Amino acid sequence: MSSPSATAGAVTPPDASTTPTTAADRLLRIGAVYAEPEARDSERGQQVLSRFPGAEVIEVPSHWQIPELHGNEGNVERWVRVKSGTLVLGVKKSLSARPNGRSSDFIAPSTSNGCAMACAYCYVPRRKGYANPITVFTNIDKITRYLRGHVRRQGVKPEPDQVDPRAWVYDIGENSDCSVDALVSDNVADLVATFRELPTAKASFATKFVNRELLDLDPQGRTRVRFSLMPESDAKLLDIRTSPIPERIAAIDDFVAAGYEVHLNFSPIVLREGWERDWAELLTRLDDEVGDAAKQQAAAEIIMLTHNRDLHEVNLGWHPKAEDLLWRPDIQQPKRSQSGMWNVRYRNAPKREAVARVQDLIAAHAPWIRVRYAF
Ligand code: SF4
Repeated sequence: MSSPSATAGAVTPPDASTTPTTAADRLLRIGAVYAEPEARDSERGQQVLSRFPGAEVIEVPSHWQIPELHGNEGNVERWVRVKSGTLVLGVKKSLSARPNGRSSDFIAPSTSNGCAMACAYCYVPRRKGYANPITVFTNIDKITRYLRGHVRRQGVKPEPDQVDPRAWVYDIGENSDCSVDALVSDNVADLVATFRELPTAKASFATKFVNRELLDLDPQGRTRVRFSLMPESDAKLLDIRTSPIPERIAAIDDFVAAGYEVHLNFSPIVLREGWERDWAELLTRLDDEVGDAAKQQAAAEIIMLTHNRDLHEVNLGWHPKAEDLLWRPDIQQPKRSQSGMWNVRYRNAPKREAVARVQDLIAAHAPWIRVRYAF
């Protein structure tokens, strides 16, 4: 750590113009770490800092109060530079596991939030301002202890549901992408190890990044990875900084062989001219390329796009082409989210028709995919 007691200031992340050598380098070239003192001094905090020895360390009173990072204004052009050049270390104060019922039974307390990737439709930054770098919570021992207690209190799952026939499933990546988080700290490894020893529960996370270091974590079937997939042409425009779709598909068999349960996250489904043809192509490709072991355990969730007016405005400033696909007032309607934000989603009729159409396409081209839920 080069300057542990510096006060928060306008630190410019490193120039991203030098040639990266690995996928991790491409995503993260950390030049500044904003740290709460307790987080900085913790074992996990020191581990993270040791991975980025050249980074300047800037003390901050709270991981939530870093206006020069999290503010929206003036950061549009710097968005990606902030994401790739900056980390935050904090301590997660209140721990709770929220009931979910869709992708999981419970949302586990976050061990991180923020993301170094920059999908144009991402809801993760909305709570914290838009240039939303990764915040690592360093009190991982407390979080895994809480999770073990929560799992114990649930007892045995009384009956199967769409989430899982037997296990209580905990989403460990609601506010981040765990595959990228694992480049930054051992929090994900610790979560995988925790669930390995919980026979009544599973961890689960959706991801758009292939981190092959995860193949060494020995999950023994207690962690479910949900690879997010969409037609390649959509991903090229919308999934900024993520692993390409062919790389995600190619990883499926390897993750199954390494002991993960692998599901598919068809999300978001974006309605545009030609979308059905391109989804049919993607499903056919999956049918051709995925092995039998992966097919036997496969399941998918289907999630239609929701978007947000504020994010639309921000995107117009840096990636207006994405908005041609995402912002469709002709077929969208406003909807107040659980957190009180005004989002837009496809109107009821086109949405209903599209959900049915996706299910038909799956039945026609990849009938081995069990649809867990669609909305
Ligand atoms: S990978 Fe996930 S968390 Fe990261 S920007 Fe994309 S949608 Fe958001």
